[in-house]
Amino acid sequence: MDPLWLLLLLPLAVASGWYAARREVSKLSKEAPFNLPSAYFKGLNFLLNEQPDKAIEVFIKVLEMDSETVEMHLTLGNLFRRRGELERAARIHQNIIARPNLSNSQRLQALFELAQDYFKAGLFDRAESLFLELADVPSHAEQALRYLSQLYEQEKEWANAISATQRLQSYSEKDISPIVAQYYCELADVSLEKRDYAKAREHIDRALEVDPKSTRATIQLGNLEFDLGEYARAIETWRKIEEQDPRYLGEVIDKVVIAYRRLNDDEGLWEFLSKALDDYGGPKLLKAQIEEIEHRKGRSEAVVFLTDWLRKHPSLHGLRSLVNLKESELNSSTSASDLEPLQALLVSLFDTDGLYRCRQCGFVGRSLHWQCPGCKGWYTQSPVSDEHSMRQIN
Ligand SMILES: [Zn+2]
Repeated sequence: MDPLWLLLLLPLAVASGWYAARREVSKLSKEAPFNLPSAYFKGLNFLLNEQPDKAIEVFIKVLEMDSETVEMHLTLGNLFRRRGELERAARIHQNIIARPNLSNSQRLQALFELAQDYFKAGLFDRAESLFLELADVPSHAEQALRYLSQLYEQEKEWANAISATQRLQSYSEKDISPIVAQYYCELADVSLEKRDYAKAREHIDRALEVDPKSTRATIQLGNLEFDLGEYARAIETWRKIEEQDPRYLGEVIDKVVIAYRRLNDDEGLWEFLSKALDDYGGPKLLKAQIEEIEHRKGRSEAVVFLTDWLRKHPSLHGLRSLVNLKESELNSSTSASDLEPLQALLVSLFDTDGLYRCRQCGFVGRSLHWQCPGCKGWYTQSPVSDEHSMRQIN
C-alpha cells in the first residue's frame, strides 16, 4: 500500500472521533452537518499537487494525536521506511516522540522505529544511542541488542559486538557463543596484522574459551606459531582441525608441508599426508600428496599413484590433476600435447577447485569468508568438493 493513501486516512480517523464526540453533544440539540477539519483539505490539496512532504507536515502538525492516530502514525512511518523513504519515516517517528501525552509503551515503540530509520539510513551514531537506551528496557532489549550486534559488525567494532552479543545470549535459546568466538578471531586478525602476537594470542585464547570448537581460532593459532618459527607447535595445533572440522584441513595444508620441511621431518610429513588424504580427501590434500610423491619419486610415480587413487575415489578434480600430470609428462618427452584441449574442457566444465559455497544462501566465491558476504551468516561457507556427488553417482 502506498503510504500516501494512509495520509488521507489519518485525518479521517481524527475526524471520525471528532464526529462521534460531536454527535454526543448534538443528540441534545438538532443533528449538525458533518464537517471535516480544514487541515484535511489543506493536506489533501498538497497531496493532489504532488507535494507529499508538505502534506505530511500539515497532517502531522495540525491534527491532534490520540492513541488511535499514534498507531496510524507508526504504521505510516514504517511504510515509508519500507519504501526506503527514510527521511520521511524519521520525521514522522520524531514527531510522535515529541508529543507530550504518549503512553510509555508508545514512546518506546516510536523510539525503536526511529532507531531503525537511522540504522537503515546508515546514521549509525544516532541509531546506536537509541538502541543502547532500548537495550535497558526489558520489552525491547532483545531486538535492540540484535540490531546493535549488526551495527557493530558493520562498523567492525568487535569489542562492542562481543558485549552486545553476550548480553543477547540471555534472551536467545540458540547458543550464540560461536559468533562471539568469531568476533574474538576478528580482533586477533587485527592484532596479527600489527604483528602484536601477544595480544593476538589473548584474543585467540578467548575465542577458544567461548567456543572450543572454533576451527578459525585453531587455524589462527597455528598460523601464529608458524610465524614465530614454532613449527612443531604449529603442526600440533593445526592437527586439532581434524577433530573440529576436517573440511578446513586443506586451508592450512601448504603451511603444514612447509613446517614439516623446516623440521626436516620427511617421515612425519609423509605419514600426515597419507593419513589425511585417506581420511578426508579433497582437492587440496590430494594436490599436496601428489606434489610430495613427485618431489620424492618423480612424475611417473605420481601418475601411477593418482591413477590408482582415482579408481578408488573418482573425482573430477582428481581427473583434472591426472590430465595435468600426463600433459607435463608428455611435454617433457615430446614437443606437443593433444591433452591440452581436454584439460581446457575439464577446467571450463568443472572449475570448482578453490570455490567456497554458503550453505545458508548459496553464495559462491573464490576465497573463504568467515562471514558470508551474501547473507552475513558466520561460518556458513565451506570448500566445494565434487567428490561427494561423484560417490553418489557411483
Ligand atoms: Zn550466505
